[in-house]
Amino acid sequence: MAMKDYVDAFTHRKPKWPLAGYAPGGYLGKCYACQVLMADVDKRAVHCFPCAVEQAQSVMEKQRAMVRELQEQIDKLKAVIQIVTPSCG
Ligand SMILES: [Zn+2]
Repeated sequence: MAMKDYVDAFTHRKPKWPLAGYAPGGYLGKCYACQVLMADVDKRAVHCFPCAVEQAQSVMEKQRAMVRELQEQIDKLKAVIQIVTPSCG
């Protein structure tokens, strides 16, 4: 594949906002996380873009941990079910 077939991964299309409390726009606001005064944000924006990325990463990590925990519980329940279910053999 030639270089001309590649796009700039960061800019090739506009994201669908919002992301974790950030969206661009024409308003002024204050980031609830880092307290910076921010320009050019949506009127409902509560995070600057870097804080929004951190928030999204934090939420994803918590969800991954929760999924791992639930999978462990499922595995334990399956093992218990095998113990209490009468064998057909
Ligand atoms: Zn911030």
